[in-house]
Amino acid sequence: MAELTRFYQMFQPKHYDLFLNIDRKAKQFTGKTTITGAAKESQIAIHQKDLTIISVQANGQALPFTTDPAADALRIDLQQTGNVELTITYKAALTDTMMGIYPSYYELNGVKKQIIGTQFETNFARQAFPCIDEPEAKATFELALKFDEQPGETVLSNMPEARVEDGVHYFEKTVRMSTYLVAFAFGELQSKLTTTESGVKIGVFATKAHQANELDFALDIAKRSIEFYEEFYQTPYPLPHSWQLALPDFSAGAMENWGLVTYREAYLLLDPANTALDMKQLVATVIAHELAHQWFGDLVTMKWWDDLWLNESFANMMEYVAIDALEPNWRIWESFQTSEAPAALQRDATDGVQSVHVQVNNPAEIDALFDGAIVYAKGARMLVMVRALIGDDALRTGLKNYFAAHQFGNATGADLWAALGVAAGIDVGAIMNSWLEQPGYPVVTAAVEEGQLVLTQQQFFIGAGEEQGRNWQIPLNSNYAAVPAILTTKKVVVGDYAKLRAAAAEPFRLNIGNNSHFIVKYDTTLLQDILDQSASLGAVSQLQILQDLRLLAEGRLLSYVAIVPVLTQFANSHFAIVNAALYQVAGNLKKFVTPDSIAEQNLRTFYDKLSEAQVTRLGWNAKENETNDDQLTRPYVLRAALYARNQAAIEAAHVLFTKNKHQLVALPAAIRVFVLANEVKHFGSAALCEQLLQQYRQSTDASFKSDLCAALSSTPDANLIAQLIARFEDADTIKPQDLRAWFRNVLANDDGQQAAWDWIRAEWQWLEKTVGGDMEFTTYITVIASIFHTPARLAEFKAFFEPKIKTPGLTREIQMDIKVIEGRVNLIEEEKAAVNDTIAQLVK
Ligand SMILES: [Zn+2]
Repeated sequence: MAELTRFYQMFQPKHYDLFLNIDRKAKQFTGKTTITGAAKESQIAIHQKDLTIISVQANGQALPFTTDPAADALRIDLQQTGNVELTITYKAALTDTMMGIYPSYYELNGVKKQIIGTQFETNFARQAFPCIDEPEAKATFELALKFDEQPGETVLSNMPEARVEDGVHYFEKTVRMSTYLVAFAFGELQSKLTTTESGVKIGVFATKAHQANELDFALDIAKRSIEFYEEFYQTPYPLPHSWQLALPDFSAGAMENWGLVTYREAYLLLDPANTALDMKQLVATVIAHELAHQWFGDLVTMKWWDDLWLNESFANMMEYVAIDALEPNWRIWESFQTSEAPAALQRDATDGVQSVHVQVNNPAEIDALFDGAIVYAKGARMLVMVRALIGDDALRTGLKNYFAAHQFGNATGADLWAALGVAAGIDVGAIMNSWLEQPGYPVVTAAVEEGQLVLTQQQFFIGAGEEQGRNWQIPLNSNYAAVPAILTTKKVVVGDYAKLRAAAAEPFRLNIGNNSHFIVKYDTTLLQDILDQSASLGAVSQLQILQDLRLLAEGRLLSYVAIVPVLTQFANSHFAIVNAALYQVAGNLKKFVTPDSIAEQNLRTFYDKLSEAQVTRLGWNAKENETNDDQLTRPYVLRAALYARNQAAIEAAHVLFTKNKHQLVALPAAIRVFVLANEVKHFGSAALCEQLLQQYRQSTDASFKSDLCAALSSTPDANLIAQLIARFEDADTIKPQDLRAWFRNVLANDDGQQAAWDWIRAEWQWLEKTVGGDMEFTTYITVIASIFHTPARLAEFKAFFEPKIKTPGLTREIQMDIKVIEGRVNLIEEEKAAVNDTIAQLVK
């Protein structure tokens, strides 16, 4: 394990001239990098990884050098400090790891093709050219690119192309920027272009395997997002163009390379005529997220990776701010409550979780930093909390000043708080530190004690947790004026409850809007008061009741038995997000029942009761002019009816399948997955599965592919499961980027779990080799932990992963996931009988 020394201390680059010559056929490239900069020490180190260094010159003089693979270093003794021009020649291989410079594969009319693209975040620029690969080491770049070019190929980079000479593409010099944001790509591409009101060129690029109209949605969102941010940030977009490029192989969701944002195809391209609303919303927020980074992250960059949250939390909040402005009818902040909020509340309740701001001591830890639920979701919740505290005017003024002070440079969290604090006249940093530096979050208990309304805070845990006496500064957002704005102490006595209740004439509530990162445990009286009047509450408040109750039950502060009847109360809600929260609780109940037991049968009947009226109300087909809520609710209730094995639902899905069997992709996207899965489960055959798998291989529609994956992996047939698993390592069928979804789906299938679990244990080394250097790797462990819930699986999980606990980057994940499964197993063992009894009573 290499200790992390900052190479920027030794050498500070100012400008890079990059020349790359890429040979796709031979899968290799050669490079010549000239770096001008200032040596602060005579012995310097430059980052490089897996490059074969051929020569090093300083100011034209050849110099000896050594490479130090453990530190990703090229070490050079300059003999003196001061300004120097280094020229390094090298060669390297193109690998299929989706890092550095890498090929993306696809098929067009049966012919295999590739697009070359790049992925340099977090520290993979060093696999493409020698550099000081640290965010602080900003410099300008001039890229020259040569490759085995064919007529009609398109070449893209951060900046426009300046000229082509002797087959070399020269790009304009960039502004001052970090290495991890450098990008280029080439291949046969189609595009759609437009221009913003301020003159920024906007483009969407994709392979020609897609229909041209699949680029339209992204083009519109990208253009309007850039326009929105220019106005919101009061800072012009800093580059001449903003290209969005869909790459067939892509590990993360998308990457904010400055001026050349790269995306998974699923997160950029969509069929405008047949894509579910929630998928459109997802694509829109991903684009808005990456474009928020063009300022926050690219123009001003975190000084070091410990402030990664600065980039991600902020972009994660802004994607909602932007889309809410662009598409107000979507009420996108409600989606925040069903995606970011529960993700953060779940993960952050496990003891051992990282804080938002976290030290980085080892290179492998940089990737482990990308804990989505914390750095993205919890961080975004922190900023939503700040936004609620200071308001949009102060936020915008603060940001404008922040960009002006740090543009083309770096900043820390403290710099942001300072800028926002000055604009708002509040010490934002003081409030935020308790949230950013401490892991976890509090549960606030609201109780009436001897007539007094009393609030107390303590850390909330799901699973075993060690009380550390942590305290938070909690914005309480109560509907009772007597409650302090911020709870800073362990306990506060608000006053005489009877008087407060009478004066307010409504139930006592905290965290209205659910913008603060805490949950509330009301005592029985207070909770019943809220539940009695829940019908008059808005969507977010209703969702919050279900969400908090679920978390309290998982944290053993309440029994699941108490929640089951509450589900019935909300079952006919017309709010989509309430149904989302409701069916999340209902989904957890599946873990209390053994497959093919009476308890399972009762649970299915319970699902039928929950969903019956809504299925009748909504039907299978979208109605003309129906509300967004109805569109988004339909999938929850249909899924429930099918789980219930409701005969009418099974038959209806079968009829839809039969009607559309020659063009399954044309089934309405919002319900397609249920129709396909129903067919596989109840009317399936080997021939059908082969046919669906064939379509999976051939389709370029990411939503359809995801539906086929879900349907196929739900098969109860052991032979078919074995055949699917046999394809896990066949990249021509299942791309490595999509493998986790396949693995997850089969593992979640009771009939497939054993085979999937056997596969990952047998193929762990293959998996590590294929996706190991990647920020997605640890999430395979998270996926397993999200599903396992029996003592036997817990023991197997420990037996397999405990020996790997010292692996850099995996330690925290394994420790946490053992706690996650242990907590769940204990909960189920202790409450199973009572929960199943309650359900049996309800379905009698
Ligand atoms: Zn991001």
